[in-house]
This record gives sequence, C-alpha cells and structure tokens, in this order.
Amino acid sequence: MTTFKALGLQQSLLDAVNDLGFETPSEVQEKAIPILLEAETDLVALAQTGTGKTAAFGFPLIQKIDRESRTTQGLILSPTRELCLQITNELQLYSKYEKHINVVAIYGGASITEQARQIKRGAQIVVATPGRMKDMIGRGLVDISKIDYCILDEADEMLNMGFFEDIKDILSNTPNEKSTWLFSATMPKEVSIIAKKFMHSPKEITVGAKNSGATTVQHEYYTVGGRDRSPALKRLADTNPDIFSVVFCRTKRDTQKVAEKLIEDGYNAGALHGDLSQNQRDLVMSAFRKKQIQMLVATDVAARGIDVDDITHVINYQLPDEIETYTHRSGRTGRAGKSGISMVIITRSEQRKIKSIEKIIKQEFVAKSLPTGMEICEIQLYHLANKIKDTKINPEVDSFLPAINDVLQGLDRDELIKKIVSVEFTRFYNYYNKTKDLNSIGASNDHEGGSYDSSASGAVRYFINVGEKDGYDWMSLKDFIRDTAGLGKEDIFKVDVKDSFSFFNSESGVSDQILATFKDLKIDGRFVNVEVSKNPGGAGGRKRGGPGGPKSRGKRKEKNKDFDRPRSRKRDRGNSSAPNSGKRRSKKRKGDFF
Ligand code: ADP
Ligand code: MG
Repeated sequence: MTTFKALGLQQSLLDAVNDLGFETPSEVQEKAIPILLEAETDLVALAQTGTGKTAAFGFPLIQKIDRESRTTQGLILSPTRELCLQITNELQLYSKYEKHINVVAIYGGASITEQARQIKRGAQIVVATPGRMKDMIGRGLVDISKIDYCILDEADEMLNMGFFEDIKDILSNTPNEKSTWLFSATMPKEVSIIAKKFMHSPKEITVGAKNSGATTVQHEYYTVGGRDRSPALKRLADTNPDIFSVVFCRTKRDTQKVAEKLIEDGYNAGALHGDLSQNQRDLVMSAFRKKQIQMLVATDVAARGIDVDDITHVINYQLPDEIETYTHRSGRTGRAGKSGISMVIITRSEQRKIKSIEKIIKQEFVAKSLPTGMEICEIQLYHLANKIKDTKINPEVDSFLPAINDVLQGLDRDELIKKIVSVEFTRFYNYYNKTKDLNSIGASNDHEGGSYDSSASGAVRYFINVGEKDGYDWMSLKDFIRDTAGLGKEDIFKVDVKDSFSFFNSESGVSDQILATFKDLKIDGRFVNVEVSKNPGGAGGRKRGGPGGPKSRGKRKEKNKDFDRPRSRKRDRGNSSAPNSGKRRSKKRKGDFF
C-alpha cells in the first residue's frame, strides 16, 4: 500500500499527516501529489466530493512555497466563504510544523480592512472567494502578480454560481508563468472552457468514473402526488428518528417555507439560504454542526459550503433544475468512508429525470414506497424501547421514587411497560392511523431498471435487533445477513438501518432459511434476533384507510434554545386548540424520541 512518504512529502508534512490521523493517501492524493511535487505543471483533477482533494493540492503547495519570501505565492479560489475557511483551516493544520508559512482567508461578509491587514503581514498562501478577491484586487489590497500557483477548487461549483467573469478577471491579474491546478467533481462545458483558456497542456487525473457519485451512497426515490411532498418529507424523517440531513429545495422561498413548516411541526429544522444575513447563516450552520439541527433545509447555493462528515441522509425535496447538481447534493452524504442515503421525492412526471440522473451517477436508483403509518409507528416504538433501555438513570429520581411508586401502585411490569410505551406510541398511532397512503399509485412499477420493485408480491419484511450502534450501515448489514444465512447477492433488499435495530426484506422463498439461521444465533455473546415484521410496510405499498389531511408531530432535542423557542410557543398554542391532535407536545416531554 502506498504511504504518504512514498509520495514524496517532506518529514514536517508527514508529521502533520500523522497528527491528522490520515493513514493512507486517498486515490486523488496518491495520483495528484507526486505529479505536483515532481515538476511545474498544470493539472486538471476530477474527483467527487469527500475524496480528499484539499490535501491533494494542499500538501504539494505547502512543500513548494518559498518560506524565506513573504510574497504571496499561492492563490486558492473556492466558491464559498465556508469552504474558504475550511481550506484555510486545513492548510494551517497541514503546515503546523512549518515555520513562517502564513495562510490567509479572504471572503465576503467580513471586514475587508482586517483581511487586508493580514495580507500585509505577509501571506504566502491566500484562500479566497472570487467576489471578495476581485474586490481586493480592485482596491489594491492584495498583489497576486507574482504567484507561482493558482488553484481552482470546486471549479464546477464556482462556475455554477456564476463566477466565470470574476475568475477570468482574477486570472488576468496573475502572471503567465505559473502553474494552475484545477479541482472539480464534475467536468461540465464551462470547466473545460476555463481549462482550455487558462491552462497549458494540463495533466489530467480522474478518480473513479467521471462524474460519478460516491458508491457508498444509496440513491432512492419516492413517487408522490405533487401536494404530498411535505407530508412525505415528514414520513421520511419519522422513519429515521436519528436522521441528520440536508433537505434540498429549489428556491429560497421554498427553503424557508419547508423549514418553517418542519419547525412548526416540532422537528429540529433550520433554513439556510441567501436571503439570511451572514450572522443568521453562521448560527444555523453552527447549530447544524453541533447536531442541534437534524434537518437543514437549504438551497443548492447556500449548501455549497457544507462540509459536515456525518450526514446520514440527503433529501431532495425537489429535484434540482440542472440534473448535474444532483451529484453535488448527494455528495453531502457518504463522506469520509461512511455510507449514506440520498432520497428524492418526485412526482410521476419526473420519473424520466431519474433515468437521466442514473446515467450521470452511473448508479441505479431504488424505487421505494413511503412507509405506511403503521410501519412508522413500529419503528418509533422500537426506537422508544431502545431508548428506554439505553437511558442512564438519573440518581436525582431516587428521592421522588416513593411518591411515584404511590401513584403507580398496583401496576405490574407488563402493564407499566405498555403504558410507558403508549405515552408516545399513541400519539403516532392517532396521527398516522388516519393518514392516507402517499405513494402515487402504480408509481414504482414504471421503473423497469430498479433493482427491486417495492410492490413485489411475496416480499417479507423482517426486524433485526442490530443497527448502527453495532457498527452496521445498510451495506454491511446486508452483507452480514446474506453471508450468515448463506444467501445470494440479490436475496436481501430494502435494508433500513436504525440506531439499534434494522429492517430488511427478502422474497418469501428464503424466509424459512433466514428465520432458521437467526434462531438462537449468538454473536459475541449476544443474541441476534430476526423476526418477521408485523407491518410489512416496506415490503409493499399497502394502502391505509381513511382520508384526512396529514397533521403533524414532531421531533426534537432539548438543547437547541435558539431554534426551539418559536416552535414550543406554537406548539403550546396547538395544545389548547387541538387536544387530541398528534402535534400535541409539551416542553416536558421533549426527549429526542420524536
Ligand atoms: P473534497 O475536497 O474532495 O470534498 P476534503 O478534502 O474536504 O474532500 O476531505 C474530506 C474529508 O476526508 C475531510 O474530513 C478530510 O479530513 C478527510 N481526509 C482527507 N484525506 C484523508 C486521508 N488520506 N485519510 C483519511 N481522511 C482523509
Ligand atoms: Mg473540497
């Protein structure tokens, strides 16, 4: 296996690599670093998000900088302020054992004089957004006429955002004799134009298939009626109680509306779009990073800076106008070797777009049905049971115990359990019991290419008592079940991993084999238990009776004061007016169950 050392990095950088905990170079690093270190050359590197591009250009750049000179030698252009700060931060970590290397970030929305002051002190490397850079050049606050290296990071996104003219202007202020390194996830026409115009016979490297999304991401779509996007979104959230997601909308207005609706319904949501002030955006992002926000509703532009590693789901509330943008969206999950799911809510007329996206990502979508209300109830129930099991007992409870015992006197264990669980379950039940099936009828059948038809007859849905806490994701659990039961590649499908339990499907033909395998099966001293799920919602779009507009209920975490306030106020109002509705929720009851 290749090491960072073998790529030609000097010792001080290897020490930094070590501190960062990078064991082996990623593919783009392995390919780019030796090329960039060896000679002065232009380079076009295509690699999807999350593949480690920052280090691929960052390490060679730092190694090549002349430490004795304080002239600006390297310019990195990146699309957003957030990315700009991230890159700067990374480069500072990479150069922690270098003496006299200064990396300065230049971006809009912050004091230009302060940034100019930092530049003046001597910044060999400047990381900038195109807009602010142009501004500073215009005012003579930065001199890039002597740079040796110009790096265009996330070039496709910069061009997407309309920075073509700015980039052209900026590049015209740089010397001809320099190396240009272009990094991009995709290679749309505009990027090739830049490459042709401003680069001299660049070397090219491509990681993975061109334009392909990460293979650790499963792509799913759900077909619903045009007006059911919002309740569909809630179902997706309710099926994944521990969701940590970015929800993409097409416009700022939709973004705001969807976020408001979620918050009103008691979910931990926040909006991120260009109409917010920088300060508001910082607040939202910081809450999201701390996971106080579980569902970040964002426009494509605003989400460009998001570089959070643990995102479990990307939800496309609407498909993007440009299908190429889908790659950027889904690339927000499945980062840093983790698996992720990208879900798309579509109407029937959009199904052909799925086909076009499949061509771009070179991966098939899974046509899925929204879970039925009863399946959500089941998931929430197990989730609650597990939560109770895992809850650490607060010793402060002790002193109240005699009084509590008095109240609960005469209830036996079974009864008590049923009651505890019913506290939350009933609310879900009451809400979902009345809701309709949201799946657009016949929808999934239109998708011939899908690896499994969600309405396949004979599919059996199972519950298994292992999940994310046991280190599984949908891929590894699928492998585990298949290998343990000695099944074939296609026998297990629809694997939905929750925190401490999961669901999966198989055709009924192999059901006995599965149940027999997992009967009394002990792994690491623990019983791994598989049962047929009571509500095979994931096995087929079973229709649930009754009309009735879906109302809402919530999902929350205690901590989030700023985002919590409007919601609880609203909720309290809801309580008094609709005593029986699912959205009832008092402050006291907040746990992160919902
Ligand atoms: P990209 O720019 O391609 O989207 P980043 O440079 O932001 O990707 O890297 C994504 C994540 O992977 C970051 O958290 C980074 O610290 C981590 N990373 C980068 N290179 C390695 C490596 N060789 N080993 C482990 N983690 C890495
Ligand atoms: Mg990057």
